[in-house]
Amino acid sequence: MSNCIFCKIVAGTIPATKLYEDDDVLAFMDIGPIVKGHVLVIPKTHTETIGQTPPETLAKVIAVVRRMARAQQAGLGADGINIHQSNGAAAGQVVPHIHFHVIPRFKHDGHHWNWTAQSYADPSEVAALADRIKAALD
Ligand code: 5GP
Ligand code: ZN
Repeated sequence: MSNCIFCKIVAGTIPATKLYEDDDVLAFMDIGPIVKGHVLVIPKTHTETIGQTPPETLAKVIAVVRRMARAQQAGLGADGINIHQSNGAAAGQVVPHIHFHVIPRFKHDGHHWNWTAQSYADPSEVAALADRIKAALD
């Protein structure tokens, strides 16, 4: 994708602070970290969402996500790690090249997820939604 910013980082036509790369996967520092030390991990081949990305590719990406998380703990002394991944504008995806955020977390780092739990009206509402998801499994 010639106009994709992450494809340009893969190609080396725009700079990034790279941490690791192999034939399939690239890890680099996020330019706007939620917490300092925030890493992005991407497949080198352009796909937009998790649903469009082959499972074999995702397996390679997740192996690097795991290595980054371990390195943030060992190298930065992170107390915890968040893995975050958005699909589609409705989910807050800004860059339309699939990426996993690997975010080091520290006690008192000041970040709080805006995560408000909703509740179901009754058990049948949960069951109906579960049935629709199960019926659509491929
Ligand atoms: P999204 O909101 O799509 O899940 O995340 C996109 C991420 O890409 C953001 O965290 C943003 O800071 C990062 N980002 C956007 N443009 C660039 C860039 O040119 N270089 C780097 N290193 N990160 C970028
Ligand atoms: Zn791309």
